[in-house]
Amino acid sequence: MPEETRNAEVRHESVEQQINWDDYRDHLATADQQGRRIWVYPKKPSGRFYRWRTWLSYLLLLVLAVGPFTKINGNPLLMFNIVERRFSIFGIILWPQDMFIFALFMLIVFIMVVLATAVYGRIFCGWFCPQTVMMEMVFRKIEYWIEGDHVEQRALNAAPWTPRKVRKKALKLVIFYVISFVVGNLLLAYIIGSDRLILIITDDPRNHIHGLTAMMLFSLLFFGIFARFREQACTFICPYGRFQSVLLDEASIIVGYDYKRGEKRGKKKRGQSEEERAAAGLGDCINCGMCVSVCPTGIDIRNGLQMECVHCTSCIDACDSIMDRIKKPRGLIRYASLNSIEKGEKLKATPRLFIYTTVLFLLTGLLGYLLLNRPPVDAYLLRAPGALYQTMPTGHLTNLYLLKLLNKTNAEMPVELKLENVEGKITVAGNTNVMPGKMSEPAVVVELAPEVLTAEKNPIEIGVYSNGRKLETVRTVFVGPEKARHAL
Ligand code: SF4
Ligand code: SF4
Repeated sequence: MPEETRNAEVRHESVEQQINWDDYRDHLATADQQGRRIWVYPKKPSGRFYRWRTWLSYLLLLVLAVGPFTKINGNPLLMFNIVERRFSIFGIILWPQDMFIFALFMLIVFIMVVLATAVYGRIFCGWFCPQTVMMEMVFRKIEYWIEGDHVEQRALNAAPWTPRKVRKKALKLVIFYVISFVVGNLLLAYIIGSDRLILIITDDPRNHIHGLTAMMLFSLLFFGIFARFREQACTFICPYGRFQSVLLDEASIIVGYDYKRGEKRGKKKRGQSEEERAAAGLGDCINCGMCVSVCPTGIDIRNGLQMECVHCTSCIDACDSIMDRIKKPRGLIRYASLNSIEKGEKLKATPRLFIYTTVLFLLTGLLGYLLLNRPPVDAYLLRAPGALYQTMPTGHLTNLYLLKLLNKTNAEMPVELKLENVEGKITVAGNTNVMPGKMSEPAVVVELAPEVLTAEKNPIEIGVYSNGRKLETVRTVFVGPEKARHAL
């Protein structure tokens, strides 16, 4: 055996010896000692949290499905066209010129995620994340429907390839691919807009090679994620699970096992009384393993908070059903903070929870205010480079400017200008009927009588109006002869 290979094996063996396979911290719940994946067969969950999550998921899926197709004032409800840097949030189109609002939006979302995690733990992962919603509420439900619960699934996978197994697997994969195709198309609609997506589907395919390629790639990506990759996407790809260790503290609300109440765990023997269990030093956990068997990430929540936990609450439901059966109070596994578990207290509203929640609402309000008060037209007035004032035969003076108008709405916008702070005449040479999403750059001539000038550089304000409504005020200077300054 070559020496290098021998050395590598020795190194591998010494690493193996260092790993304590009984300690969950030393290895992933979904990998064996050879690093091979352990497929997770979660038991079908049931209970009040699962019911509430199911209804919320249906609502979220509905919003997700109609988001790019619903129009407000002709704009999509939601669109994130990163290719053309056009974004639509609740029908308000953000153009590249609005990037600061979008950047602020992303910053506020980031702060909201940090604050929400600090207070409410990974509530987003369990209740709102599209990956969890799609996996647990769509693909997993179809799997249960076709292959049965976890025991039947395990048996089917271990069984030889009979016509029945081929039929079940083929049916599942076809349905998975069809749904992945729909999800891939939805994602594309979010990126390029529903109109473009419909065009790609209905037009000659030769005109949309890029769009069709993206469609196929997205479909295959989602098929791979939901058919095979599954919980690994949360564990290995999503950075959020890794961030949580720095975002959470002992006051954060997490899905937690009340070890004070549950330990020492031990099976409940037939006919064993509470007194006998207490005398044996046993807690409320009867070590039934139900919380582990329902976990879609294959972990044991009794080991404490772990990176893999997506806070799906399935273990809460499972343990509550066991507590009901053994006539113990619910909540051995529950939403709790580490502080509340250690002190044996019920979860209560702390000042931090109140302050962070208030900040979250304020940030959401700020974002809404910025979006709603964004001017529909961007107007910039620049003095024509190198141009000085001109004297007219009437004795009046003129200055030449270049106006840049960007229509940020989805409708044609006729624009007119008015001098606001001084008597004079304003003439626009060029197009002031700006098309949706387009820019117009007309020349503007401002004519003033010399008597109104008070200095060599006179500040002037020009109002930008459309259909009688003032949209914005632009400010610039009107340059006159030097004697205007001496006339003061
Ligand atoms: S479900 Fe509850 S009782 Fe059963 S093992 Fe888990 S924590 Fe213990
Ligand atoms: S430990 Fe509980 S909450 Fe966390 S992922 Fe598993 S079942 Fe869901």
